[in-house]
Amino acid sequence: MQALVYRGPERLELEERPVPRARPGEVVVHVDASSICGTDLRIAAGLHRAYAEPNGRIPGHELAGTIADVGRGVGLSEGARVFVAPNYGCGRCRACRRGAVNLCETPRALGITDDGAFAEYVRLPHELVEQGNVMRLETNVEQAAVALAEPLACVLRGSRACRITARDLVLVFGAGPIGLLHVSIARLAGAHVVVCEPDEKRRRRALDWGADAVVADPAELNGAPDAVIVAAPAPEAQRQALELAAPGARINFFAGLPRDRALVELDTNLVHYKELLVTGTTANTNADCSEALALILDGRVDTAALIDARFELAAARDAFALAASGRALKVVIEP
Ligand SMILES: [Zn+2]
Ligand SMILES: [Zn+2]
Repeated sequence: MQALVYRGPERLELEERPVPRARPGEVVVHVDASSICGTDLRIAAGLHRAYAEPNGRIPGHELAGTIADVGRGVGLSEGARVFVAPNYGCGRCRACRRGAVNLCETPRALGITDDGAFAEYVRLPHELVEQGNVMRLETNVEQAAVALAEPLACVLRGSRACRITARDLVLVFGAGPIGLLHVSIARLAGAHVVVCEPDEKRRRRALDWGADAVVADPAELNGAPDAVIVAAPAPEAQRQALELAAPGARINFFAGLPRDRALVELDTNLVHYKELLVTGTTANTNADCSEALALILDGRVDTAALIDARFELAAARDAFALAASGRALKVVIEP
């Protein structure tokens, strides 16, 4: 089979790999769709710590597929369409026992620590299968839209941490795919949502997507937000979030910062005197993923509308180039 393999910074190579076979407890899935995420762009650039060396690993963690081979002892059948939640844990540490596999002491994930979905087939380790990450699909929503349940699950987790209600004014920094998914979830909660985004095209897209208002600069904002979600890797936006927030507001530093820019000077008196709740969330759990999946399958979040381009696996490098250019929201590879 063909697979996109990490051979070093700016060196994702298409290579021939044997089609994996399912050993006991494992499942092999034919990848129908896998979408490119900001994490994958960091991997490609050599900036991800799980890819510190040219490790020959296959990235790709946002996937939907069809079961192609089932190992002994697994209660799933060939031909079933599935979404696969990529994150799993050791199952023993404190975080895992609380159900927060995303905070596991030794977190594992397809496309990060294990071979992922930018390939024709992906083998699912038995721990992942046992932890319930393989979710059967009973509807006909297209697989590319289903793959986007993964980023949507991250967004749901982040949004929940902000306890958004219908009375809230919500400010979202950034109108990339993640920012737009935050708009959807906040709107579903009934909130009034404003997006702050410097790029004009993306501002227009956010309005079309359903934001109540857009601003290029937070100074244009009317009223202090009750929740602020920083969905852009911008230290300045983190600072502004604390300044703009209404008393009692909830803030999520949803986007990670580049490591060399992560030391940010913040006025912590704003947290104290305004009783701000400042939080962050990372990745997702199976519970987040099944909730996200339900929203997509019910048609409440139209993830297909985020997809700007689709490529065959053979053109995976073109897909990455387009995704890195910032000219497309979601780029999907359909092997
Ligand atoms: Zn992702
Ligand atoms: Zn663990």
